[in-house]
Amino acid sequence: AVFSTQPYDQQFFEQCRAAKAPQTLEIAYHSFPLSAETVALASGCESICVFVNDNLTEPVLEKLKMLGVRAILLRCAGFNNVDLKAAERLGFFVANVPSYSPEAVAEFAVTLVQTINRNTHRAYNRVREGNFALDGLLGRTLHGKTVGVIGTGKIGIAFARIMKGYGCRIVAYDVYRNPDFDSLGQYKTLEEVLPLSDIVSLHCPLIDSTRHLINSRALAQMKPGALLVNTSRGGLIDTTAVIQALKSKRLRGLALDVYEAEAALFYSDHSSDIIQDDVFQRLMTFPNVIVCGHQGFFTEEALAEIAEVTFTNLEDYRHG
Ligand code: NAD
Repeated sequence: AVFSTQPYDQQFFEQCRAAKAPQTLEIAYHSFPLSAETVALASGCESICVFVNDNLTEPVLEKLKMLGVRAILLRCAGFNNVDLKAAERLGFFVANVPSYSPEAVAEFAVTLVQTINRNTHRAYNRVREGNFALDGLLGRTLHGKTVGVIGTGKIGIAFARIMKGYGCRIVAYDVYRNPDFDSLGQYKTLEEVLPLSDIVSLHCPLIDSTRHLINSRALAQMKPGALLVNTSRGGLIDTTAVIQALKSKRLRGLALDVYEAEAALFYSDHSSDIIQDDVFQRLMTFPNVIVCGHQGFFTEEALAEIAEVTFTNLEDYRHG
């Protein structure tokens, strides 16, 4: 049996199980995050299937082991929510979904660029109130603008490809060169990319060396009036420094699909947590800021791919 924790995956898992899973497989779906409080529900399961908001700390892993769980199937690429050392010590099989529809996230980054650039979010709210005025909605034509891509992996490349199609000039920074980028633009240092770019989009992982990659120093290097977009991980940006850059109007707009404290906010049932997050509240006072709740991956195609790879991972576990 499998313990799963997101209801929106259910239809994709059910569609896939007929083709990919053994008839005898039982799946128990639960709609709340796995934690010390909920872990007992995994009793009797051989595997648990978890996502970014499920916290697999050492005590949770120890409890899972006691309950008889042997395999941890992550429905995401990242595994920063799993204490891997403890998982290894306890002998768990751990598998992730290394890649699922990079285009889904890249397209969402483009959506954020378009929205923040043309103030569509403001127009949407105004028109609902019967206000068709254009003041404050002035945008810029993307054609001919320079786009800085930080991280040219699967998503960064897909994003660069679309932006090139808009007639943008693409410059990129990465610690490794990806030959797929050569036909799309030019590699430069981060210090060169920032002042050149009208739009900066982040597509690198959150690791020690990239935490607060966009800090007050980097923001001071950015082109005045640039847009900053982050669909990668919230910790790449020093949110307090970004608030200063918005205040001083150095940044023309900010669009985030990910937020530094998102685990505590977006997945919390307590709206009071959001009200008490002072940084988030300050961010929300700017009309030129959009924050979404980590939905870049959230397309039918990506969820179908996640379900399929998860069943393959389960099969791999069962076949040793
Ligand atoms: P990837 O591994 O294919 O690419 C990451 C790239 O970042 C690589 O080219 C790597 O060399 C580069 N990189 C590593 N360290 C760097 C540094 N210090 N500076 C610049 N570049 C650096 O990963 P991907 O599939 O393209 O995913 C990118 C990120 O998108 C992931 O790390 C994840 O955090 C995020 N993501 C978000 C969503 C969402 O729903 N918003 C979904 C999936 C992934």
